[in-house]
Amino acid sequence: MSHTAEALPQNSRKGIPVFNVDWCKACGICIAFCPQEVLKEDEKGKARLVDPDGCNSCGLCEVYCPDFAVVIDVPGGDGDDADPGEDESQAAARE
Ligand code: SF4
Ligand code: SF4
Repeated sequence: MSHTAEALPQNSRKGIPVFNVDWCKACGICIAFCPQEVLKEDEKGKARLVDPDGCNSCGLCEVYCPDFAVVIDVPGGDGDDADPGEDESQAAARE
C-alpha cells in the first residue's frame, strides 16, 4: 500500500518533478514519500529523479518539500522552459 497517494487525484496533471538544487537541503522527505520510489539521493544527499518513466505525476514530492525545491514541470505549462536552477529574478537580471 502506498502512503497517502490515494488522497490526491492520480495523474490529475502530467509532468515530472524538476528540482532546484540550490534550494534543496537534502532532507530526504520527498524521497521517503514518493510512492513510486523513483527519487534517490545524489552524492550530496539531494533528491533527484532516477526513473522519469516510473513517475506517476502524483505531485507528492512537490507538496511535501518544505523548501519549495520541487516543481512538477507540466509540458506546455507555465515555467516549462524555466531553468530549475534559476529563479525569475535571476532571469530578469540577465535581460
Ligand atoms: S510526482 Fe509522485 S511519483 Fe513522481 S517523483 Fe514525485 S512523488 Fe514520486
Ligand atoms: S523534500 Fe525538498 S529539500 Fe527535502 S530532499 Fe526533497 S527536494 Fe530536497
